[in-house]
Amino acid sequence: MLVDDFGRPVKSMRIQVNTTCNFHCFFCHMEGTEVNSSEMTAAEIERVVQVAAKWGVNKIKFTGGEPLMRRDIVEIVARVRKHISGDISLTTNGVLLVKKVEELKKAGLNRVNISMHSIDRNGFQFITGVDALDQVKEGIRAAKDAGLGPIKINFVVLKDVNVHLVDRMIDFAAENDAILQLIEYETTKEAENSEDYQRYHYSLDPIEERIAAQALGEERNELHNRERYTIRNKGKPVSIEFVKPMHNTDFCNNCTRIRLTSTGQLKPCLMRSDNLTDILHEIRKENRESNLDFIFRTAVKKREPYWRETDVIESEIFRKI
Ligand code: SAM
Repeated sequence: MLVDDFGRPVKSMRIQVNTTCNFHCFFCHMEGTEVNSSEMTAAEIERVVQVAAKWGVNKIKFTGGEPLMRRDIVEIVARVRKHISGDISLTTNGVLLVKKVEELKKAGLNRVNISMHSIDRNGFQFITGVDALDQVKEGIRAAKDAGLGPIKINFVVLKDVNVHLVDRMIDFAAENDAILQLIEYETTKEAENSEDYQRYHYSLDPIEERIAAQALGEERNELHNRERYTIRNKGKPVSIEFVKPMHNTDFCNNCTRIRLTSTGQLKPCLMRSDNLTDILHEIRKENRESNLDFIFRTAVKKREPYWRETDVIESEIFRKI
């Protein structure tokens, strides 16, 4: 397994299979990339995973865009499964899930994260630009029935937009045997003071304190050291995971993933685009094992924690001034 210069092993890969999406969430970070129509083929994605697996990566997350908009998503999962014995999951807005759950399961997908940022029809449409809440709920049920669990429901908490729905989301997650993942709205250091970010960012701390106070149990997701609490909700246990990346040095110190963009660039960090390493060019040109190994190791070498102790101290001083 490769360990970066900050002592962090690289165990997982987050693969962006496209940038096309059928939703228009106004806060979307696009996995730190730009919209792009050129995509890697299923065989090319498999080749990158083959190299990564050789160097110890054994966990894959597919993302987009909307990954289910790729017609060959089942083939992609099946090809990747040949090299990965660990967890393979996919994050989706859920709209196209019903049609694909069975095939995805057969291809080797273990589980899904389904984004649902509102349980209110109008609120859902405000956030995503699409009137599709019912379809997403159906997708969640279909994924559960197909055994693609534990299902995680991704909910990005937004000030004055959906914070008031957190308790209803907990009810919904409990009813559907899902884990509710509450995600802090995140952005880069450069965009932190933008009007939009200031308007919608909401600290998850008060919600976490309230949930922690009722917790029957507490565990940590190794990735990013994320806290997960189990509470009893209307007689049923339900788990709630907190994803709090902003200014969080612990989050970055426990980052064990590398990213692959839809255009075939290895990307060490969601928040940076100045340290990418192109691997697709080599696959298309010579596809030499030793060159691919070198490229993968180079990308790992470029990994740095985004939020560091010094940045956090500086930004606290800045706030006080
Ligand atoms: N279309 C898929 C979906 O909706 O899940 C996959 C792509 S989406 C970029 C992946 C996840 O990132 C979603 O759960 C989404 O809500 C989350 N996300 C997007 N922008 C974000 C932001 N600025 N802060 C926190 N999470 C964000």
